[in-house]
Amino acid sequence: MIHRKETMDVVERIRADFPILQRKINGKQLIYFDNAATTQRPTQVLETIRAFYTLYNANVHRSSHTLGREATELYEQAHENVARFIGAEDEREIVFVRNSTEAINLVAYSLLHGGSERLRLGPGDEVVLTIMEHHSNLVPWQALRDKGDVVLKFVGLNDEGTLDLEQLRGQVTERTKLVCCSHVSNVLGVINPVREIGRIAHQAGALFLVDGAQSVPHTPTDVKQTNCDFLAFSGHKMLAPMGIGVLYGRRELLEEMTPFLYGGDMIADVKLEGATWNKLPWKFEAGTANVCGGIALGGATDWKSGQRLEGAVDYLQRIGMEEVRAHERELTGYALEGLRTVPGVRIYGSLNPDERTGVIAFNVIKRGELIDPHIVAGFLNDEGIAVRSGGHCAYPLADRLGVEGTVRVSFYIYNTKAEVDRFLEVLDDIVHRRLF
Ligand code: PMP
Repeated sequence: MIHRKETMDVVERIRADFPILQRKINGKQLIYFDNAATTQRPTQVLETIRAFYTLYNANVHRSSHTLGREATELYEQAHENVARFIGAEDEREIVFVRNSTEAINLVAYSLLHGGSERLRLGPGDEVVLTIMEHHSNLVPWQALRDKGDVVLKFVGLNDEGTLDLEQLRGQVTERTKLVCCSHVSNVLGVINPVREIGRIAHQAGALFLVDGAQSVPHTPTDVKQTNCDFLAFSGHKMLAPMGIGVLYGRRELLEEMTPFLYGGDMIADVKLEGATWNKLPWKFEAGTANVCGGIALGGATDWKSGQRLEGAVDYLQRIGMEEVRAHERELTGYALEGLRTVPGVRIYGSLNPDERTGVIAFNVIKRGELIDPHIVAGFLNDEGIAVRSGGHCAYPLADRLGVEGTVRVSFYIYNTKAEVDRFLEVLDDIVHRRLF
């Protein structure tokens, strides 16, 4: 067991890798609690970006000169490392995209526009979603409904703020072609039972897509255990730069699917009469890729010089994803306990830290009135505390909760109990003295 002092030392060492945490905001020490929106980057990842553009920059899969071959080798290694990180069989199942949104759109458009008969979505086919989805796992399917006459069915929440699994069982039928679900809600932080949902989907002969934007950065991921056919996640929510994300897809499915974008690098051959597609995963990576972003996410080694370009995935693996989860679980439990003692604070979702990650949405009620969450977030910002407020791109969920928005705090590996204490102290002051 790690002694509490040792845990603190580990977090202090981690914090030293994030220079931005030294910033003062409004004259106060920055407390960054907006990690569900995007995380910060450690110096190791910043150094990889610098090293790539200083020493290795070239386009990939095109030029046979040394730089071109080196960049290609590093970029391909990054795919392999990401595959290992999520327990995928091989790197052909890892498509680098811009973000989770693009990954989900890729699947939606590909299933609408072709591929094999068995995969194509058309009139009368059903897609089952939950009401807690981020807009990026809702709006693409609405577009599919409008263009392809596909039927959307929704699963709601039960009173504890968790997914209504019984309703899901009823919604999935022999007409269901696809079940789409976030592993972790970006508002409630609730961890959905994806393994079980995958089992239900597969039993009905449907495919299962998991939005892992809020789970892959925070919990150990194994796509085989998760029972998913597709998994989408974003690099910027797990220490990598913005503009790089991942679609994992089971190989035989990706083989059968049609490309989403067309152009350079995704072809095997082109004649004026038509084209054939490149092998996986390049068939889905049209045009010049975010090569640096990919390497900064997955990491790679220049075997000739031995230089390691450390990726976000390396950094997280060095800490250990079990440790990441344990740290966030402890902070979440601590923050939930503290929040319950602040008068007028209403917390949304389960109060059990075993059922949620480090995302906590709440509102402040004073004299029977719900205070605009942007006002609360503004007061927190005055004290250097960065949180998000609003509908969090999940408006149907806000409707279900009966609010327009919430204040959301979200933790990561570099956050501390001392920061939670300061946040609670400021919130208490806001409730008692600043709100009239
Ligand atoms: N899904 C969930 C659950 C999210 O929290 C987010 C980002 N807030 C997304 C999808 C979309 O991620 P991105 O903006 O990186 O595409």
